[in-house]
Amino acid sequence: MLHVEGLTKSYKTGDSTLPILKGVSLLVEQGEFVAIMGPSGSGKSTFMNMLGCLDRPDSGTYTLDGIEISSLKDKQLAHVRNQKIGFVFQSFNLLARSTSLHNVELPMMYAGLSRTERRSRAVEALKRVGLAERMHHKPTQLSGGQKQRVAIARALVNRPAILLADEPTGNLDSRSGTEIMAMFQELHGQGVTIILVTHELDIAQHAQRIVTFKDGVIIRDEPVEDRLFATSSAEVIVT
Ligand code: ADP
Ligand code: MG
Repeated sequence: MLHVEGLTKSYKTGDSTLPILKGVSLLVEQGEFVAIMGPSGSGKSTFMNMLGCLDRPDSGTYTLDGIEISSLKDKQLAHVRNQKIGFVFQSFNLLARSTSLHNVELPMMYAGLSRTERRSRAVEALKRVGLAERMHHKPTQLSGGQKQRVAIARALVNRPAILLADEPTGNLDSRSGTEIMAMFQELHGQGVTIILVTHELDIAQHAQRIVTFKDGVIIRDEPVEDRLFATSSAEVIVT
């Protein structure tokens, strides 16, 4: 489904160049649910932005759903971003003045779908996240958890190949966070491929596999059971 190989990215600050991603390779199969963990500043968001086609790497290759992303021109890249990728952000990124319905319809406007098609698919997506009765509400009239559910509906409405979520529970209280994770698990059960960034093991344990970043490289990649076992045995040793 998704394959990156040797991804690098540096940022220029003043006259120095700071390497952020130092050769990251990852293979994600269709239907997998992967959590990315790692300290703040280790490059997780930078990596997600590359996967989400929001930014381009300096070098390395990226293939998504059979498309060689690295060789695309900007216009094609925007098309892939709209058609193949659903992105959920920590800060929701909803249009403040628009209703849930309009927020969810937006990606389909870019995709050129008819008005009736947009409406029916947006309603269906909002039902899927349990928000049918909040269709005409604006973000200010919604709780954090509800806003994130609108964002998830928006991310899914073009039936993307992959759902990317960068700290989706980071701005939520723990109850709403658990609710959102239940939602991700349900989507995973329906066959959606998911990559989710979090720094909380409680959140990551809902995934199948945990990939750990440190200083711009992947230092661990393991099934969630191994990680949980490693953590609990470490506690046993310490106590
Ligand atoms: P994480 O999500 O793991 O916390 P990030 O990918 O956001 O880490 O950031 C990694 C490093 O890259 C940080 O040191 C950050 O300051 C730097 N960085 C991120 N985006 C930019 C940018 N647009 N310009 C310059 N530096 C950046
Ligand atoms: Mg981040």
